[in-house]
Amino acid sequence: MAARRHVEIAGAGFAGLTAAAAFAQRGWSVRVHEAGDRLRTAGAGIYIYENGLKVFEAVGAYEAATRGAFPGRAREMRDDADNTIARIEWPVDGPMRMFSIVRQNCIDALAAAATGAGAEIVTGSEVAGAEPEGMLVLANGRRHKADLVIGADGVGSPVRDSLGLMRSFRQLPDGAIRLLVPRTEEEREGAETQNYIEYWSGRRRLLYTPVSDDAVYLALLCPVADTDAQRIPIDVDLWTRTYPHLEHLFPRIGDRGRWDPFVVIRLKRWSRGRVATIGDAAHAMAPNLGQGGGCGMMNGLALAVYLDRHDDIPAGLAEWERGERPLTDHTQRISTIYGWPGSWPPRLRAWFYDFAHKNPWVERQRLRTATHVPVGWTPDRAVARN
Ligand SMILES: Cc1cc2nc3c(=O)[nH]c(=O)nc-3n(C[C@H](O)[C@H](O)[C@H](O)COP(=O)(O)OP(=O)(O)OC[C@H]3O[C@@H](n4cnc5c(N)ncnc54)[C@H](O)[C@@H]3O)c2cc1C
Repeated sequence: MAARRHVEIAGAGFAGLTAAAAFAQRGWSVRVHEAGDRLRTAGAGIYIYENGLKVFEAVGAYEAATRGAFPGRAREMRDDADNTIARIEWPVDGPMRMFSIVRQNCIDALAAAATGAGAEIVTGSEVAGAEPEGMLVLANGRRHKADLVIGADGVGSPVRDSLGLMRSFRQLPDGAIRLLVPRTEEEREGAETQNYIEYWSGRRRLLYTPVSDDAVYLALLCPVADTDAQRIPIDVDLWTRTYPHLEHLFPRIGDRGRWDPFVVIRLKRWSRGRVATIGDAAHAMAPNLGQGGGCGMMNGLALAVYLDRHDDIPAGLAEWERGERPLTDHTQRISTIYGWPGSWPPRLRAWFYDFAHKNPWVERQRLRTATHVPVGWTPDRAVARN
């Protein structure tokens, strides 16, 4: 009988935990190293589209991840004068589901799927790098040999950097403050507040997203050069002047929030020897399609499927990248393009989004990722809808 294979994973975010669950469920022994002292996620809320929901189904995390989540129905884009310039609808019982979810629920659900299948998660374990022969190196100097090492350690990935995989690291001109605020009774009852709403004002943007019965996810976007708008605690007067019609929102924010500039990462290749990179470490992208986490999870699941078929790890990694990378590259490109109008004059921007949402070819490009069936998902994994 072949020996049980072992994988060491750096990072317990969306990508690392999905891979941990998928490998453990295929009989591998799995250890995840998380630098934080507990499993905690930054970024407050998240949109998970049909492709990401299928990954949850494939690893058995769907029910826990979506419990209490908000099923998306419509997303509106409003101009500086609060007029709707574009509207997208998702019929709740349609073929393409999407949910907005408190991020921590997703992390907890993926961690439960991973540990339930036998994966070990070690918190407070900082990774310093990796060696292509299959060695994970910790910051405390300890070294762990494995059949496979995975760098799922986010944008600043020491695993990726220790292997010299970076082709380009590009900081985009915008970033966002993200946070959760309690959802009021009025917002729970109101017709308008059942939708996702993206409010534009000059180069600033506010994204209003209910994520549960009790919580609303707010993303306040602005150019990196707009230093007053990215201050935390937020400048209530500045944001109220920007959005007088949303003045009720800002005093509720208090000192919540975290600022992140948007980053696009492209690698020469996703692996070297017995070490692979997944998630933001490999392909951080602009958030305009809401697919960074979805792609990270799809690639983490697919990695387990491809390598489970291959005794030769480097050959399996090459086949995995050939299979998965074209869709990720496409998603990065389209997500960047959807951010371009942010710096355009308001009328041109309104024209772009209106055109984009009405043009079937453009819509197909935008939805290619969401409608993709992830490798590793099969119809028998589908969770019945209610
Ligand atoms: C404003 C904004 C909005 C977004 N909205 C969406 C959305 O709606 N939908 C979507 O799908 N995606 C969205 N994304 C993208 C999504 O957040 C990321 O793609 C996703 O979180 C990446 O997951 P990851 O597991 O690769 O990395 P991370 O979530 O960064 O996880 C990496 C983990 O590794 C740990 N770590 C780091 N360094 C080390 C180390 N040296 N040793 C050990 N552990 C380490 C970290 O503590 C962390 O737990 C958005 C991004 C932004 C910026």
